Amino acid sequence: MSEHGFVKQSMDCLTQLDTECRKFLGLICNLPNHATVPFFYADRRVGGLGTCRLTDDADIWTIARAAQLLTCRDPTVRNICREQLHDTIRRGFRNEHPGVLPVGEYLSGSVDGGLYRLRYAEAGSNLWTLARQAAKRLGVRIDVSGDENLRIVADDVSVSPVKAVRGLRKVARQRYTRDLISDKSHQGVVATGLSLEDKSKDMARLGPARHPSSSGHSWFCSQEQDTSCRRCGKENETGFHVLNHCEEGLQLATKRHNTIQDLLESLLVKQGHDVTINNAIPGQRLRPDVEFQLSGSRVMVDVVVCYDQPGSMENAYQRKYDKYSSHGRILPLVVGSLGSWYPRNDEIRSILGINGRSWGAFRFKARLAAIQGSMDMVCAHFHHGAPNPEAEDNPPLPVLSEEGEEVEEEEEEEDGCGGGGFYRHTGNQTIEIQQHLVY
Ligand SMILES: [Zn+2]
Repeated sequence: MSEHGFVKQSMDCLTQLDTECRKFLGLICNLPNHATVPFFYADRRVGGLGTCRLTDDADIWTIARAAQLLTCRDPTVRNICREQLHDTIRRGFRNEHPGVLPVGEYLSGSVDGGLYRLRYAEAGSNLWTLARQAAKRLGVRIDVSGDENLRIVADDVSVSPVKAVRGLRKVARQRYTRDLISDKSHQGVVATGLSLEDKSKDMARLGPARHPSSSGHSWFCSQEQDTSCRRCGKENETGFHVLNHCEEGLQLATKRHNTIQDLLESLLVKQGHDVTINNAIPGQRLRPDVEFQLSGSRVMVDVVVCYDQPGSMENAYQRKYDKYSSHGRILPLVVGSLGSWYPRNDEIRSILGINGRSWGAFRFKARLAAIQGSMDMVCAHFHHGAPNPEAEDNPPLPVLSEEGEEVEEEEEEEDGCGGGGFYRHTGNQTIEIQQHLVY
């Protein structure tokens, strides 16, 4: 077998492995068969799995090694490599090469400036031909204009050879993240909601809690069946319906809402506010979740858990505002049912002067509570009509650090779950059936 054939076969093998890895991850995460490819490789902050695609990684390492050899500190190694690269280009041109060899263009996989005439067969297959193909596949440009300071450029990333692997993995992940967000599927819609807050590591840490439901759409009715809700029969049984709209899920939706309200209450009490809960505004039928005085005037915080679509969150915010704003200052707290964080929630922090650590801890717990409440709703939905719902295992609770986390710069290695204690449900709350579902 020729060297070229061998390389091709290795890539085919990696492509196959990628497919098998996706199947395996799909099994672990209980995903439907049609989970989109970007979902596996997109950033965990938007609900992706954040894994590396082997075929991308092979290309990334090839480009990185080639660039590192060309800029090696040892002049002998560096010069041998450069000479071999030049020789490869010349042979590719069958010795009809231009006066100045287009080294950067060659390595970047360009076909401009006569490079389309290259014949790989003439040059054989070596690290330089492989790097050229890899750069072409990944859309990476090798900038050799700095001579000694070679740069590897892709999208908005430009890195030196020693940082090539990290930089190019970031590029690959960003591309999958963009693909996932622009996807019109349920996963894509949820990703747009989750991407509203992308500075903290909350979602990376919350990943294990929410993956089974992240692809909720298909989890419900299969295509052959009647698609109406198995419990209420009133609408299509979609993730949106089950998590945010089904009247049969009202009790658990209220519990989900109240768990977040309890977290909010204990945060405000710790901050020294004298809060009242579910108290009617005098002369009104309105009962804001939490109310307290700030500089002599009424401040109300009302919690709402809604669908993780930016538009739904915006509407939920506006509805709360319209309902309460004539009675004092209203600060809606909008959390997506799969953990999205509406950016204006942070106004509560700035208006009340809550420190970053306490706020970060609260934000994380509130998002986790939304996800866990939704998981309970999904379980209850599936167990509808089952003889003994308790017999089935609930999904494991994720580990939660007691400490809040401040906003940090992105690191290549995300640490998965934070360490520390386990999340506890607020046990003895009374569950009232209230109109907290968002329509
Ligand atoms: Zn229903």
